[in-house]
Amino acid sequence: MNYFSLNKSSPKASFKQAVVNGIAPDRGLYYPESITPLSQDFIDRISEYSNEEIAFEVIKQFIGDEIPAEKLKEIIKKTISFEFPVVTIEKNIGSLELYHGPTMAFKDVGARFMSQCLEYFNQDNKDDITVLVATSGDTGGAVANGFLNAKGVQVVILYPSGKVSDIQEKQLTTLGNNITALEVDGVFDDCQEMVKSAFLDEEISKKLTSANSINVARWLPQMFYFFFAYKQVSAQHKDIVFSVPSGNFGNICAGLLAQKLGLPVKHFIASTNINDTVPQYLVNGIYSPKPSKATISNAMDVGNPSNFIRIQELFQNNLTQLKASFSSFSFSDHETKEMMKDIYNKFNYISEPHGAIGYLGLKKHSLHEDEFGIFLETAHPVKFLEVVEATLPISVEIPSQIKKVMNKEKAAIQIASYKELKTFLNS
Ligand SMILES: *Cc1c(COP(=O)(O)O)cnc(C)c1O
Repeated sequence: MNYFSLNKSSPKASFKQAVVNGIAPDRGLYYPESITPLSQDFIDRISEYSNEEIAFEVIKQFIGDEIPAEKLKEIIKKTISFEFPVVTIEKNIGSLELYHGPTMAFKDVGARFMSQCLEYFNQDNKDDITVLVATSGDTGGAVANGFLNAKGVQVVILYPSGKVSDIQEKQLTTLGNNITALEVDGVFDDCQEMVKSAFLDEEISKKLTSANSINVARWLPQMFYFFFAYKQVSAQHKDIVFSVPSGNFGNICAGLLAQKLGLPVKHFIASTNINDTVPQYLVNGIYSPKPSKATISNAMDVGNPSNFIRIQELFQNNLTQLKASFSSFSFSDHETKEMMKDIYNKFNYISEPHGAIGYLGLKKHSLHEDEFGIFLETAHPVKFLEVVEATLPISVEIPSQIKKVMNKEKAAIQIASYKELKTFLNS
């Protein structure tokens, strides 16, 4: 499969080149040259397929012959070796729990898939490739874990000092080996800017790739669990509405691509915190990125969502068409906490701020009788322990995969400017 740059002035790239480059030379995001819907028969009989078979069907056209089928199956198997349950919360609402992987966030899927692709593509290369990634929270841990000990791959993670939770910080600063954490004096957007500058910098950009959701190998496998969710609820014969707590809009963009492949979804809701660039755009047609503001759902503190441009491409830059199957609503920290309490008091379900925002989106949409709403619970409550325990009358039990990292020693290098990042990358 070939990919073109959404800035339209770079040559086409193979899947391998798109993964290795991360972003096109003209700084555009890569986008598949063609998208072929899956057969109706496959969709109708989805419950007869295993998750691994579904994932293979969904992704194979985007890779073509660049990874042999048997190898791709092996990569998929390692990527999705955990559960993706839709847990019914109330009559017509379910929570798609995406947190049963090793770092307890949905980003495990994309990170594990991408690391194996990169390892495969770099196997005959004598030079290491450096993965450079900015994180607002969960990406760092998932990438660190997914890439740990990947052969021929060095990983450098930038995170905003004091703006990720203790557990998130431990997950990305304690692994060592081929993983280095850089603690940035600034907010997430500063981290993202530095990463973008590095990719633009011809002196160092050649050996770099990105593991942010702009990388096609992270974006595309996120389609899998929209299909897994459909498989679990299709017998109800209801119209499905997904609400996706959104920051960089990679996850929801994968959902929309799944829909384009034929997944029967009636409507998508991108639920955000007060970083409301996209909700505002849907209201007034003006896309005006802003600096991000800190919230309790910090993995979504993004003022300029990088994947939104892919969503616009999916809808041929037609706002009217986009609005027909896509809404976006923004919610405050106060509303988020109230909803966490509500969900707990009424249904005895523990959500964390991102999932609660997803739930808020479904409520705002107000579901019809014949609709089933699914919100994505993108992280385990333990990942946001401080706010969950301050909001709900509970103490969260720490799962074993988290306990393991909590006792380890943090190791991070402090930086405050692009110059310092460059010095580090050159060293
Ligand atoms: C990254 C993240 C999000 C936002 O996902 P995007 O693909 O960037 O929109 C939501 N919730 C959690 C817990 C995350 O880590």
